[in-house]
Amino acid sequence: MINMAIIKEIHFSRTKSFGDYENVRIGAVAEVVYPKTEDNVLVDLKEWVDAKISEEVSKPVVEMKTEELKQLEGYVAERREALKALEAEIKAKRGELDRCIEVGMRSLFVTLGPYKEVRLSCGHSFRCEFSQHEKGQTAWCAKCGNYVEVAKIVDTVTGKEYDKL
Ligand SMILES: [Zn+2]
Repeated sequence: MINMAIIKEIHFSRTKSFGDYENVRIGAVAEVVYPKTEDNVLVDLKEWVDAKISEEVSKPVVEMKTEELKQLEGYVAERREALKALEAEIKAKRGELDRCIEVGMRSLFVTLGPYKEVRLSCGHSFRCEFSQHEKGQTAWCAKCGNYVEVAKIVDTVTGKEYDKL
């Protein structure tokens, strides 16, 4: 190749468009030094420029992903707070429900259980449904360990008084 010009250096540059009127242009110049040939140097330049370009291209993607991640973390934290509030609400409702059940059970007990009360002259009383008690009779008070008088027989639901039960 006698008539061919001697290539002393090689320029290589590439432009990468981001699609939104933005682009990045990266170029480099390398000297051709023996034993490297022009082709070798061009390959090296291309490799270097391409690597730099992909770094530039991935930068906004990384920034975008970081921003997205930050937003996601914010969303997760928000949801976690909402969940905590919900759990507290459920706990409160459960307590409320427990109290309702307790009240319900109590009134059920009053309705279904013995609700007629035999009140004794000593101040003690006991509940029973069907027994042989009469106002004024003598009855055994287990609490006093003594015989006392039946003072009143009362229906605890209606408040009605009986002479006999
Ligand atoms: Zn008593």
